[in-house]
Amino acid sequence: MEIKCVTCGRAINLDHAVFENYFGPVKCFSCSSMMEVKIKEKVFHGAILLTLKEQSPGVQKEYAHPNL
Ligand SMILES: [Zn+2]
Repeated sequence: MEIKCVTCGRAINLDHAVFENYFGPVKCFSCSSMMEVKIKEKVFHGAILLTLKEQSPGVQKEYAHPNL
């Protein structure tokens, strides 16, 4: 599958079995932005831009802790 970079809009190819169910960081090779993507059963559920600060562990994200 392909997603679009949230910063520059370039397509990012995630054509690999690991991305069929994936929740984690993806780096744009065009602009080097880090974003966190959520893909479940080959359906893309969204991407949020990660700043350097947000890449630190322990930062809460809206869908990282759905039970809270
Ligand atoms: Zn980009």
